[in-house]
Amino acid sequence: MIIDFKTNFSYKCPSCFEFCTQGISVFDIPWKRHLTIKCKCNLSSVKIFLKGSSYVIKAPCFICMQTHTYRIPKNKFWSSDILIKECLQSSLDVCALGDEINTQRWISDYSEILKFMLEDDFE
Ligand SMILES: [Zn+2]
Ligand SMILES: [Zn+2]
Repeated sequence: MIIDFKTNFSYKCPSCFEFCTQGISVFDIPWKRHLTIKCKCNLSSVKIFLKGSSYVIKAPCFICMQTHTYRIPKNKFWSSDILIKECLQSSLDVCALGDEINTQRWISDYSEILKFMLEDDFE
């Protein structure tokens, strides 16, 4: 299997509640340095760095407002169609990693789910 060292990362910002998406390549995550993905609102950010043979993602959670840490093996990080990481408290999605089509699909599907959940709260 040929691995294309490019992927897309998306998370729901806890400050402005928008989805923040960024394309990343292997060169964006230099050895011993962080990649910081900042939301357009500038109030939240995600950090990704390499640790051993895994990437570590530190993402702010819009549900419980804590920062979750996810460890993803190198090959999975670059080769997954879609990889969704959940909040450890609520098991709702926090962020996703994958190709452009699947990342966009996650955003639109998840937006719908969240809309329904919020509407339920008002009933
Ligand atoms: Zn934001
Ligand atoms: Zn959480």
